[in-house]
Amino acid sequence: MIVYLNGKWIPENRAFISIQDHGFLYGDGVYETLRVKDGDLLFLKEHLDRLFNSLSKISLEQVYSREKWREILETIVRRNRHKEAVVRLTVTRGVGPHGLDPDLCEKPTVVITSRPYLGYEERLYKKGMTLAIVNVRRNTPEATPPSIKSISCLNSVLAKIESKKVKAHEALMLSDEGFLTEGTISNIFLVKGGQLFTPALDGCQLPGVTRAEVCRLARELTMDVRETKLTAADISLADEIFLTSTLLEVMPVSLVKTTHDASTLFHKRDWPITRRLMICYTSARRKSNRVRGPI
Ligand code: PMP
Repeated sequence: MIVYLNGKWIPENRAFISIQDHGFLYGDGVYETLRVKDGDLLFLKEHLDRLFNSLSKISLEQVYSREKWREILETIVRRNRHKEAVVRLTVTRGVGPHGLDPDLCEKPTVVITSRPYLGYEERLYKKGMTLAIVNVRRNTPEATPPSIKSISCLNSVLAKIESKKVKAHEALMLSDEGFLTEGTISNIFLVKGGQLFTPALDGCQLPGVTRAEVCRLARELTMDVRETKLTAADISLADEIFLTSTLLEVMPVSLVKTTHDASTLFHKRDWPITRRLMICYTSARRKSNRVRGPI
């Protein structure tokens, strides 16, 4: 695979960053993960919007223009002859050997890599995933804002480790105040009485690109979409639950349990509304870039 590192195209096995990079030393950086489908980068505009937002929130200069990002991202897809792939871009504060102060770094480090998209097992889309509500709480917006797509993922890693103890596919974290926030790599939706519910973007979760698209599609289908505060009690009352992310797309949930007492809050095996949204999403993502126009 060819990768992009600070303006150069090099084979992946010869691409190295400094051990004094603040991304490595302090987790000081942001990233985006994009899906390539039939050779097209999906939702490019939306991912660039979020990247620019993340960069500005950590006071990191806007390294490249949107046009330049597009050019590099399209180049990596072309050079690696990808049809189905995952592209990851990472921007860190850069090299700074003299301490944590961000002003000690001269220029950001930019890395773009790509890999074939292997997808998730078909069985999971048919039978649903298991979700564990974990004890690890989501970072508060006042501490490390979850709305920044930060490379410091320790909060999610701890949640993931905890969820694996009960053999769950994904962890669901509550906010400090006890409301549902998001998974380690996904946003959550509940269906109840034909209405769609998802935690409001109150700073306790990442504004998912797929989340926004699913909300848009559901409204197009004239569904009532409520972005609101939700609790574990709403999980027990839900008719259907599903997760969304760039890589999962729309993934049904069959079982929700808690790690603290392994009790089951939700157990369902049919998802009529989720299935409808899965189909809509699959056809909408095909046209995501063409229909939306310029980035
Ligand atoms: N929340 C978190 C913490 C994530 O890492 C992701 C994956 N990027 C998501 C939600 C879903 O976001 P998206 O739909 O943009 O992939």
